[in-house]
Amino acid sequence: MDPLPTPPAIPPAAAPKIGFVSLGCPKALVDSERILTELRAQGYATSKSYSGADLVIVNTCGFIDAAVQESLDAIGEALAENGKVIVTGCLGARSDAATGNNLVREVHPKVLAVTGPHATDEVLQHVHAALPKPHDPFIDLVPAAGVKLTPKHYAYLKISEGCNHRCTFCIIPAMRGDLVSRPIGDVLNEARALFASGVKELLVVSQDTSAYGVDVKYRTGFWDGRPIRTRMTELVAALGDLAAQHDAWVRLHYVYPYPHVDEVLPLMAEGRILPYLDVPLQHAHPDVLRRMKRPASGERNLERIARWREICPDLVVRSTFIAGFPGETEAEFETLLDFIREAELDRVGCFAYSPVEGATANALPDPVPDAVREERRARFMAVAEAVSVRKLQRRVGQVMRVLIDHASRDGAVGRSFADAPEIDGKVRLLSPEKPSHKQRLAQSSGQFVRVRIVRADGHDLIGELL
Ligand code: SF4
Repeated sequence: MDPLPTPPAIPPAAAPKIGFVSLGCPKALVDSERILTELRAQGYATSKSYSGADLVIVNTCGFIDAAVQESLDAIGEALAENGKVIVTGCLGARSDAATGNNLVREVHPKVLAVTGPHATDEVLQHVHAALPKPHDPFIDLVPAAGVKLTPKHYAYLKISEGCNHRCTFCIIPAMRGDLVSRPIGDVLNEARALFASGVKELLVVSQDTSAYGVDVKYRTGFWDGRPIRTRMTELVAALGDLAAQHDAWVRLHYVYPYPHVDEVLPLMAEGRILPYLDVPLQHAHPDVLRRMKRPASGERNLERIARWREICPDLVVRSTFIAGFPGETEAEFETLLDFIREAELDRVGCFAYSPVEGATANALPDPVPDAVREERRARFMAVAEAVSVRKLQRRVGQVMRVLIDHASRDGAVGRSFADAPEIDGKVRLLSPEKPSHKQRLAQSSGQFVRVRIVRADGHDLIGELL
């Protein structure tokens, strides 16, 4: 019998390639991941270079002036190097105060399209118009966890979009709208897929994590066939259970000091989620907080933090502050310094106040001169760093569990429960002497190891592999 003729090979059609520039905060990063996940699901490929891409998407940040300039520069570079550019993100929603025109279009009229943040569908429509969808949407199977821009071992989990507050220095509600909580079942399914894909640390983000579920009146959702309320405590408890099944960490960001936050402290004390809270306080003087219209501004934060530490003595608190807000007097600023000394915060960031176009704080009386804002920021950081360094010294001699971010035979860099990626310090591991330890260290990227802390160095700890 004649053998069956071999059909001629059909060369696969080259997938159209998208270049992606992702700027801004973790919430914007999650938007980027969603867009890339959809594009991969539809058969598009990605390119790491402008020249290799058929089109470039720039996800922008519009929060402070420096971020606006960085985003405008990135768009200019993408236009010069590639020419076909779609802009999305917070800057895309901003208009020029003088003309009322879209700011991005005004500076870069050649961009193909501009959208605001959290606009995956709109971005995809613009991509389809400029670069038609490939024929076979199944050529690139997307992992259940989606496409991630973070290293394999950690991921951000966005639980809601938008914000119900109206802090006077912030234009995020104008750009992203009021709070919309994601269904709790969807959030937990995403978390499970991320853990199953090898994620060892899940970072919960939103504009206001403590407000999760307020918009839907904490309605009861369903997950795995069981009822569960759309509320921070219930969500965090379920995330803690999932993390335990995968030997992973859960870390909470952007939590405001409302009384109900006390409910998650026992979960931290029991080791179900990391004893770490990122609480953006911004100031300590009640009058400044009122002018800022901060959420939970009436809370007694020193007492609240002390109570949290009573429930969970290992708790690490990170916060950010603004120095030189309009009308801030020297006495109000001194109150802030006293608070920092007393609260003994572990990790602290501080910005000199910078007006954001469109923010209502711009109209407040008595702006603080630029030089004074900067001088106060420097004074604040000197006090905060002294506290932070003193607290780090207490870790010398301890054995800590460390998640390794990068490793080689000659050393490694990782983080303990006290360090979030990108914003906090690190644990640097010394080169081991024994060849077997060198080998183990070299293979530890993305893994947990035990480390004895031998000294502190600025914001970092130095340790040796056990
Ligand atoms: S809580 Fe305040 S600073 Fe944060 S996003 Fe909402 S309005 Fe902006």
